[in-house]
Amino acid sequence: MRGCWWDTHAHVMDQAFAADGQEVLAQAWDAGLEGIIAVGYDAATSRQALVMARREPRLYPTVGLHPQNAHQLTDQREALESLAATGSFVAVGETGLDFHYDDPPREAQEEALLFHWELARQLDLPLIFHVRDSAAHLLDWIGRHPLPRAGVWHAFTGTREEAWAALNLGLYLGVGGILTFKNARDLREVVADLPRERVVVETDAPYLAPVPHRGKRNQPGWVVETGKALAALWDTTPEEVACLTRENARALFGIRP
Ligand SMILES: [Zn+2]
Repeated sequence: MRGCWWDTHAHVMDQAFAADGQEVLAQAWDAGLEGIIAVGYDAATSRQALVMARREPRLYPTVGLHPQNAHQLTDQREALESLAATGSFVAVGETGLDFHYDDPPREAQEEALLFHWELARQLDLPLIFHVRDSAAHLLDWIGRHPLPRAGVWHAFTGTREEAWAALNLGLYLGVGGILTFKNARDLREVVADLPRERVVVETDAPYLAPVPHRGKRNQPGWVVETGKALAALWDTTPEEVACLTRENARALFGIRP
């Protein structure tokens, strides 16, 4: 079978892959992946994603500053803008709000969020959102700043109510390795009932490796494990999940077959 899995969120340019990145990518293609969204989290990694994508057309780069790096906006604004202006990116992000430690301060994170939103509006691109202890706040913010095009709540772990609020705002929901964790019963119940045309799968590699690899360095090929868990919840086959989520990923990121 020709693979049609898409890992919609992977940091393949991360230091964690410095030694064996090519091999990790080769393993992903072998596992049946068709595409990987290489998500930037600052100017340097966004540029690296772009460079890697020029060598490997199955990689699709994004440009953004992670909310935990939001305090660097002043220093990186120009670099991010000029990267974005190349027109080579499929999305803006990851951005979002992370209130877990309240560091950087919320005001700095919101300023960076607005910067990404304006960039997405100028470029007519989807947004990638990181959401941590901030769901109500972020959903309210998106209510006041409608998505210029589409958007995705990556590594979704919210409640049913939050899921539907997000769907009503036009967001896709990115489901990752947490779905396979033993203690994620509540999440599995929510995901089981989600509208299938609005779900994408992801790894967030090198983080959040799915069972049976939990605790190891995650890699894009392992998105298949999350896909299998999704197939069980949806009472269908992994192949069906792969094809379905591929269509969703393409629609979300505006990628033509
Ligand atoms: Zn990420």
